[in-house]
Amino acid sequence: ATPIAILVGTGRGAQLGVLITGPEALESAERIDTIVLDKTGTLTAGEMSVASVTSFDGADDAQIARLVGSLEQASEHPIARAVAALTTDHAPAEGFAGLAGRGVTGVVDGRDVFAGRPAFAAEIAAGLPDAVRAAVETVEASGATAVVAGWDGRVRAVIAVADRVRPDSADTVARLRAMGLDVRLLTGDNEGAARAAAAAAGIDHVVAGVLPEEKVIEIRRLQSGGHRVAMVGDGVNDAAALATADLGLAMGGGADAAMHASDIALAGTGLAPVVTAISLSRRTMRIIR
Ligand code: ADP
Ligand code: MG
Repeated sequence: ATPIAILVGTGRGAQLGVLITGPEALESAERIDTIVLDKTGTLTAGEMSVASVTSFDGADDAQIARLVGSLEQASEHPIARAVAALTTDHAPAEGFAGLAGRGVTGVVDGRDVFAGRPAFAAEIAAGLPDAVRAAVETVEASGATAVVAGWDGRVRAVIAVADRVRPDSADTVARLRAMGLDVRLLTGDNEGAARAAAAAAGIDHVVAGVLPEEKVIEIRRLQSGGHRVAMVGDGVNDAAALATADLGLAMGGGADAAMHASDIALAGTGLAPVVTAISLSRRTMRIIR
């Protein structure tokens, strides 16, 4: 039978915006010693905006906005929402395909359009021209994310997308550390953007540029080092890592896939409920013993 304290803890959690899926979640939460945070949409607000568009191969801004904006209209990634907002003149994207943590492809106005991380675009365009590489480096050095986009097999644009760290992230990280937890950042985004966000939030351990399956490998690596690991994420790209962690926490407003893969779903818009979830589990388990 489920101890009364767990039922009370679960009910109290629901009032505080911490939705616990089952009695095991509170027990796992109490025992974790390491907490791994995703960046985009977790440490940051995921309200990205386009900072600059650099065009290549004679493409003009209106064409880039129309073709790439229409393609991204079909994706739910925070980056996609920013790029889609380049235009209000959206065309349908046929045969849309999203590869989590990599990028998107589809047909818009009869053209084969793609957008994604530089390595994803390089696969489609058979490498990146030097001028494109240089533009990507400039964007990444500024702490932003470079989306490399184009159509019909050629790169036509490097789009700089920027986000801001959530207002409560630095305070939450400090509180988690004060609770004795090792706080780490794990992101599919580039090293420059990862370092900038980590510095703003006060995190020293950063692993950047990882694909969704590599997030799983990193969680397993920490677990095999004897750690009990919690993972906090918001995206489709985090789902496998959330399921692998000893405790998965899904951000409020995140993707359904992240919520289904998690043990605890957080309500609201901030990172602070992570602290509530862990302190609630500690208090609840103390009552039981
Ligand atoms: P994070 O781990 O920080 O949440 P993701 O794993 O979701 O980041 O994404 C990793 C990278 O993949 C992004 O920084 C971006 O370069 C690329 N990417 C993912 N989805 C898209 C998309 N819809 N459009 C463009 N680029 C994308
Ligand atoms: Mg994310």
